[in-house]
Amino acid sequence: MQATFEQKREGAAPAHPEDRPAARSIRRGLLGRCPACGEGRLFASFLKPVDACSVCGEEMHHHRADDLPPYLVITIVGHLVLGGYMMTDLILPFSTWMHLAIWVPLTLIGALALMQPVKGGVIGLQWALRMHGFGGQAEAPEDELPPRDAGA
Ligand SMILES: [Zn+2]
Repeated sequence: MQATFEQKREGAAPAHPEDRPAARSIRRGLLGRCPACGEGRLFASFLKPVDACSVCGEEMHHHRADDLPPYLVITIVGHLVLGGYMMTDLILPFSTWMHLAIWVPLTLIGALALMQPVKGGVIGLQWALRMHGFGGQAEAPEDELPPRDAGA
């Protein structure tokens, strides 16, 4: 069997994907729970994850959800709102103001309601894939570019 990328890293523990199933980890994150134990809280506040799980001690501070949760929320809410607008516009005689009164609040509420669960799901996925220090190893420098004049 070919060694995985994680196993090739110096000092990295062998990856055992079966003990970190992605679907379970994402589901726990979506529910705001620690992806490792499923019991500790994942968020200290609305979008601020805890530094470490209060139940199992799994460290969360090195996650890098970054911009992915907003992108996903925009994609989900955008499809629901745009699809809903287009469907109701076809069958109901709403004025522009009625559409604005319906879809603008739904957009805001939907985006706010989805942001924390989606961010939790992204952190759960990163934990399952052992990304960004979740595998027990420090961030590897493989992302760093070589000096510009290397090989010149
Ligand atoms: Zn935990």
